Amino acid sequence: MQCPVCKTASLHNDQLESNLATLSCTACGGHWIKSYQYWRWRDAHGRDLPELPPTPILDEASSVPNAGSATAPRLCPDCGHFMRRYPVGHETDIELERCGNCGGMWFDASEWESLRERNLHDDVHKVFSEVWQTEVFRRQRAEAREKLLHEMLGAEDLDKVRNIKSWLDKHPRRSELYALLHEGYPDHRLFGE
Ligand SMILES: [Zn+2]
Ligand SMILES: [Zn+2]
Repeated sequence: MQCPVCKTASLHNDQLESNLATLSCTACGGHWIKSYQYWRWRDAHGRDLPELPPTPILDEASSVPNAGSATAPRLCPDCGHFMRRYPVGHETDIELERCGNCGGMWFDASEWESLRERNLHDDVHKVFSEVWQTEVFRRQRAEAREKLLHEMLGAEDLDKVRNIKSWLDKHPRRSELYALLHEGYPDHRLFGE
């Protein structure tokens, strides 16, 4: 079986954990895990480990997302179908690849180890689920919105307006205050129509 990244190098029998047999590439350090191998390990692994927070990033350069998302879809080394990418989210920039046909999974070099550091390695089967992916997408959208607001208003004004809003929300006369704010400000402008 050939490496889906290097294309020419062959995968060799390897082991990532006790009970977890993989096929690995010496050239790029990637790992191929067959679905049944993952489940065999997962069953022996026992209860789900609690997710750990990420270690703070000291080096700005390492926070740049990897080039993974920009690369073209890769072919499953087992059955030749295209693999789909699944962002892990949860403050990682890891994207796992999985073949929808045979269920095999590809981990680029150090991805399994990075997941293990966060106790996310025993959640890999969940990453491929609709629920997990929907949540990742929701968080990505929320982060993008926050970033946009920061760019538009700046941290100081954003902070200020949020403080005003929380003061307004708790105010016993908030409807009058909101009405006052809207005065001379047509509603269609508020909603961007
Ligand atoms: Zn390789
Ligand atoms: Zn496959």
